Amino acid sequence: MKNPKYVIRLKQVAELSHEERDELQAVTDKFVFRSNDYYQELINWEDPDDPIRQLIMPNLRELDDWGKLDASGEESFTKVPGLEHKYPSTALLLCSDVCAGYCRYCFRKRLFMTENEEVVKDVRPGVEYIRQHPEITNVLLTGGDPLILATVRLEEIFEQLYAIPHVRIVRIGSKLPAFNPYRILKDSKLTDLLGRYRTMGRQVYIMAHFDHPRELTEVAVEGLRAMLDAGAKVVNQNPIIRGVNDSVDTLRELWDRLSYNGIPPYYIFQCRPTLGNAPYTTPIEHNLALVEAARQKSSGLAKRVRFVMSHATGKIEVVAMTEKLIIFRYHSAAHPGDEGRVMIFERNPEAAWLEDYTELVNTHVVTNEAAAELAA
Ligand code: SF4
Repeated sequence: MKNPKYVIRLKQVAELSHEERDELQAVTDKFVFRSNDYYQELINWEDPDDPIRQLIMPNLRELDDWGKLDASGEESFTKVPGLEHKYPSTALLLCSDVCAGYCRYCFRKRLFMTENEEVVKDVRPGVEYIRQHPEITNVLLTGGDPLILATVRLEEIFEQLYAIPHVRIVRIGSKLPAFNPYRILKDSKLTDLLGRYRTMGRQVYIMAHFDHPRELTEVAVEGLRAMLDAGAKVVNQNPIIRGVNDSVDTLRELWDRLSYNGIPPYYIFQCRPTLGNAPYTTPIEHNLALVEAARQKSSGLAKRVRFVMSHATGKIEVVAMTEKLIIFRYHSAAHPGDEGRVMIFERNPEAAWLEDYTELVNTHVVTNEAAAELAA
């Protein structure tokens, strides 16, 4: 079993012409490029529109003046270095500023820029914050990709978190099962670790990130199976990306093949309006129609997927639309007063983010009192 070799310079990509490399250099000077020979082999170079190529190879239009570096205002929820706390029960520990490959549409590309200091090596201040906040029952290890850390380092983080009685779920957000499944298959200590921290009333979840069914190679499925067999729960979440997975059949096949292997889809995201993402975004209403059509064709577990927008004000589900209206609902809200809020806007077929909807027709919050009344 081989270890993939990293590809970090365009001149290592023999399939590109000299002209293409020269042209794309300005893009990689701005937004870092990283892949590996295993992942590069998934590209069909005969096809200039190949979806894996779109996902990992730079695009000149990333230089368009479009979007913000931190589109969801994540930095404003940083409470101590390396820790974000936006929703009461969940904290994010940003413990890695490296990924096994860099998705061109990444919403955290700011973390890979030299001047960024949101990721820390020393997680102790973050752990101490979690200890002092008993409402935090879920911790998401993220970055960057936490599974790229040495297993011994991950073990140290797990030990610190599991010493806190109110931490019941540790989630790891990772695209490594797609970019480099050998990392999982070659390190039994890693799978042992995932299993060891599943104890009575506590669970480890892997939030995997597969975007296209072609990423589900035999070796990738073996990696996923190894984590499931160890006792971790694995779910999938990914954005809709132009040219990668913006088709009904691609989404349906992705969700079905994941479900057949024990991995239900959890969230499907609207691509964030992040700087550099102009070539990758598709309109919300187009995406809702895609998601609905793919859901109708998918197996039962895949139908549970929710289409959401990770907005600065909360996680907003795109629920449904009629001929003239579109309905959103806060799945999680940064401000308690918005929890469960429904918003109905006049449709805008060009809209790519909440701010593109300007005609609010109605809004309503199912308050705790109303919910209690219904339950009585
Ligand atoms: S794996 Fe996640 S954090 Fe890493 S580049 Fe892709 S989207 Fe960004």
